[in-house]
Amino acid sequence: MAHPKKRLTTNAAGNFFVDATCINCDTCRQLAPKSFKEEGDYSAVARQPEGDAELLQAYQALLACPVGSIGTEQSDKARLQEAMKSFPLLLEDGVYYNGFNSEKSFGGNSYFIRHPDGNWLVDSPRYVGRLIKAFEEMGGIRTIFLTHEDDVADSARYAEHFGATRIIHRADAAASPGAERIVDGEEPIVVSEPFQIIPVPGHTEGSMALLYDGRFLFSGDHLWWDPERNALGAPERLVWDGERLLTSVAKLRGHPFEWVLPGHGDRIRLTPAEAAAHLDRLLERRRAARP
Ligand code: SF4
Repeated sequence: MAHPKKRLTTNAAGNFFVDATCINCDTCRQLAPKSFKEEGDYSAVARQPEGDAELLQAYQALLACPVGSIGTEQSDKARLQEAMKSFPLLLEDGVYYNGFNSEKSFGGNSYFIRHPDGNWLVDSPRYVGRLIKAFEEMGGIRTIFLTHEDDVADSARYAEHFGATRIIHRADAAASPGAERIVDGEEPIVVSEPFQIIPVPGHTEGSMALLYDGRFLFSGDHLWWDPERNALGAPERLVWDGERLLTSVAKLRGHPFEWVLPGHGDRIRLTPAEAAAHLDRLLERRRAARP
């Protein structure tokens, strides 16, 4: 729970504030970009939200913040409830962003896929009543796809509650003891149409992406949208093997997609041609920067 006494001086004056417990995970800036900005090592309120849409986004950010660093001097309980009920947020065609990001994954994003043959959870949000109820109402969770070792968060609790099968790569499996399905090697695997696993070693040895319906690429910490560069980005630090990472980026050229849905970094929808061109530019940039 954010505390007014810890309110950062970088916040715009007014009701919403960020306090000094912020871990700078970017979640609030993705959800409410007009209201929150990065300021040094923290987020801060750039300007107070105005109008229904911005207020809803600001309360969504308050709920999604993994460490409770966003507060209000006076809470609007009706808007808070509206924000609570809005999660998970529908992105498109049965694909949702869950919100309630977990500190255990440093505020990583997680997603839900509603599918008639069984729903999928991609990485894990906090284990909270609102999401458990929403997932139950949509038919539960059959499969939990873990992109890599850093973002397992509360997946074991969701697996137990829903009787779900967790999938993780063997190289990262120590992070998910008891995971029901272990992936080996680097060859893409069609689990069942239209779910395809693409191992993308680089950030970690066991990093994997999930391509759903030939359109939605759940990319973990392997690939994201960088709004400042207006380009796709990939990790430059905290990397297990930089050369393998570039090989894995190049591998995605053979798997057309539209949406990039990462654990960290911004979401984006592109055309397949734009996505391919951005992958090429990313590879050119990174190869040119080699020592
Ligand atoms: S969501 Fe919370 S922890 Fe993350 S940047 Fe915003 S205020 Fe900081």
